[in-house]
Amino acid sequence: MLKSRACLIMLSLVSLLWGCGGGGLNLPNVVNPPNPTPNPPTGYRVTVTLNMNQVYEGEEVTCTAEVSPSVQQVINWKQEPSSPTGRFSPLSGAVVRWHAPLVERATSFSIVAYIVVQGRTYEGSSSVVVLDKSEPPQEPPRISIDWPKGETVVGAGVLLTIIGTVSQGSNPLKELVVLDSDGSLLQKWPISPGDFRVDLSNFGSPGRKVIRVRAVDSAGLYGEQTIAVTNDNSLLDEEAREFLKKYSCVAGTNTIRFGNLGTGPYTKPVRIYLIDEAANYRNLVEEACQFWQKYCGFSFEVYTIHMGDTAPLPAIAIIPKFNEDPGVVALTERGYANTYEVAEADISLYKGWLDWPQNTQTGALTHELGHALVTASEIEEFGSRCVLWPILTDYRDQVIPTIMQRAIHLVYSYPPGWQP
Ligand SMILES: [Zn+2]
Repeated sequence: MLKSRACLIMLSLVSLLWGCGGGGLNLPNVVNPPNPTPNPPTGYRVTVTLNMNQVYEGEEVTCTAEVSPSVQQVINWKQEPSSPTGRFSPLSGAVVRWHAPLVERATSFSIVAYIVVQGRTYEGSSSVVVLDKSEPPQEPPRISIDWPKGETVVGAGVLLTIIGTVSQGSNPLKELVVLDSDGSLLQKWPISPGDFRVDLSNFGSPGRKVIRVRAVDSAGLYGEQTIAVTNDNSLLDEEAREFLKKYSCVAGTNTIRFGNLGTGPYTKPVRIYLIDEAANYRNLVEEACQFWQKYCGFSFEVYTIHMGDTAPLPAIAIIPKFNEDPGVVALTERGYANTYEVAEADISLYKGWLDWPQNTQTGALTHELGHALVTASEIEEFGSRCVLWPILTDYRDQVIPTIMQRAIHLVYSYPPGWQP
């Protein structure tokens, strides 16, 4: 369900408030999830800051590491690539100096700080360019990452969307590269200055680790940021089941899911019926479908019909109510074939939806499809870029977090009423 809240934020034309409610024909009460109990720290984040991002050979860089939560362990340092070799002094500690090696041409290095706690290594890094004395100064590319925030659990079959911004240094940008913790290549994409959004599907070695996201220029210089991930299929499954118990189960035990798409999963496409004037917005509906297809593997068939026509169930209907303005822009109502199976989802679009810009119209459709396919409740625990998060200010920001993706794979791999 979407409510319009005009001019709340000066910078954006619209700000959407996702309200809960709606309710299907036989919808059981949606129980608000209990406040999550804070877990004891299960990992450490190491952040490295350098006092400059380019130096001449033989000069020194001051390197500072912060570990959170704080821990007594010794902070060690290394450089990558390891050759030509610079020198750390002292060899360990929260603040060290790195004496840059002699280079033949401008070369990027990653300065890596790491701690070992109970046999596990946690690391962070930052990059610096070392210039040959005969060279003019060269700025490396810069990169910032907005998403994911914090540590993310990943595993087979899910996408980790990475959203950020890159800017060019002295040389044209060439590619965005994601490296595993051992330096091996996971994935790369061509890139140009400005915002980027990529989907990482290769997570490399299993376990908890830091992967590096680099913006590399035509001379091989790079700027880098790190992302903390835990690549663990069973942990991903476990958290996905918890998600389902909270958001897509009757009393936390049996899953509710859309229609009989077959198990296995998704042996049948989801049928969507555009009623009357809704047919004018077919391209937006199809765009919203592509979003769900990309993240969750659903396929869709979109038809146009008139109000009063009959259509076989299960189905989703998109109903234009553009002359009504109930204060919400869109609303999904679910009707049930039985306790565990949604047979029909009616997505009503109101006047407020019509008034929105096109990208947020698509964003709203994407959100409502989530109510039809995943859960009637609003989900607030994965951060503001989540598709079912209550506030959406920018369609570019919509993602389905990895745990939710896995949850949807799971729920559609079993018949309705399955116990996660
Ligand atoms: Zn909603």
